[in-house]
Amino acid sequence: MGNNNKTIYIETYGCQMNVVDSETVMAIMTAEGFGRADDALGADVVLLNTCSIREGAEQRIWHRLDELAAQKRRRPGMVLGLIGCMAERLAERIVAERPAVDIVAGPDAYRSLPMLVGEAFTGGGRGVNVELSKEETYAEISPVRLDPAGVSAFVAIMRGCNNFCSYCVVPYTRGRERSRDPETIVREARELFDAGYREVTLLGQNVNSYSHEEVDFPELLRRVAAISSLLRVRFATSHPKDISDRLLETMAATPNICRAIHLPAQSGSSHVLERMNRRYTREWYLERISAIRRAMPDAAISTDIIAGFSGETPEDHAATLSLMREVGYQFAFMFKYSEREGTRAAQTMPDDVPDEVKTARLEEIIALQNELSLDSNHRDVGREFEILVEGTSKRSADKVFGRTSQNKVVIVPRDDLRPGDYVRVRITDCSSATLQGEII
Ligand code: SAM
Ligand code: SF4
Repeated sequence: MGNNNKTIYIETYGCQMNVVDSETVMAIMTAEGFGRADDALGADVVLLNTCSIREGAEQRIWHRLDELAAQKRRRPGMVLGLIGCMAERLAERIVAERPAVDIVAGPDAYRSLPMLVGEAFTGGGRGVNVELSKEETYAEISPVRLDPAGVSAFVAIMRGCNNFCSYCVVPYTRGRERSRDPETIVREARELFDAGYREVTLLGQNVNSYSHEEVDFPELLRRVAAISSLLRVRFATSHPKDISDRLLETMAATPNICRAIHLPAQSGSSHVLERMNRRYTREWYLERISAIRRAMPDAAISTDIIAGFSGETPEDHAATLSLMREVGYQFAFMFKYSEREGTRAAQTMPDDVPDEVKTARLEEIIALQNELSLDSNHRDVGREFEILVEGTSKRSADKVFGRTSQNKVVIVPRDDLRPGDYVRVRITDCSSATLQGEII
């Protein structure tokens, strides 16, 4: 291919899945002879791996694209590409409105990137591939880790989504759900362990519906956890409608599967949940929370919440706050509803909660979550945990940070600890975001 001296830089926006996708693209491109650049400034190829989940995410990318277009005017040889969800969703508009963009490739088109880039270099015109696939899982490609000295890595176990939550653009930008061959997943996790990684997070939009021939998600988890008791296994995301007792039993029986479950509620009102097409009620959700607590009393539970969805009344909002209190989340990602073109909500449900009301509700939700996180952290003071050390504390070179199985960050004196070490600690103090500890 003659790419030996060419370098590539990938800038990643949005979710954890996009992190893995960028690493997969890097694997595809380095196999073709491209080298990795550390920033966009000198790179021959610059790709933005994009996110469409909310309007704000897309706005940031349009803005960044303008900066890179200005850079390209100074360096006309540079190839600029947009990949990922926004490329999938807005290919035509990008081509029409941004002449500086050479390549537009959707999430299932990454194997064609070397060809598209090659054509762009040889003046072959602008390359667009936004075809979605029913089969593509990039199964046999081992992603090139962007943090090679890391402790923790993401492993994609499936792609796409079939759930069609009425507000969500993902099923349109990432296509139908498909599960990756379990053997390739276990092999990749084993390679990571052998390379020094001590934690893998198995990723999918709804991991509970993972299914490949006879292997379901609990079985896959069991196989990955069996690689070594020193390998921590996490996963995201669980859809509440599908979180099964068998999964909880598997977790409870396997100490190196982490005691943390991310279970996005989105709303505490059954009325809103129905309009969101989440296919569970508040009561169902709370029953699943009880099931988690029965199986693993020490498990931490986190969530996603959307404020101000179509038709959300003050009572619905109050129900969300009461759900949050009832569950006592350790952590939450919290968003204002952002209408996305093409979704069922955009077509049939008015975006009728005024922006200032959305903002006020979101602020209440965030304030409550800060209280709940602080309460949860206070309860840990005096308790003992094993943490996996990840790196040096941002605030002090004399300290390191690591995580508990419950995914809480703990800061401890450095001693002679190194990333990847396990150490037992006692919690001595906390804020709403972190725990302080001493080594025992
Ligand atoms: N598949 C996962 C799930 O169902 O929980 C995560 C999907 S999405 C990448 C992450 C979160 O973004 C969702 O859980 C939801 O809270 C939020 N989200 C999705 N669409 C949104 C929208 N239109 N407006 C605001 N937040 C949205
Ligand atoms: Fe979007 Fe719902 Fe699929 Fe999550 S489960 S990606 S929120 S459609």
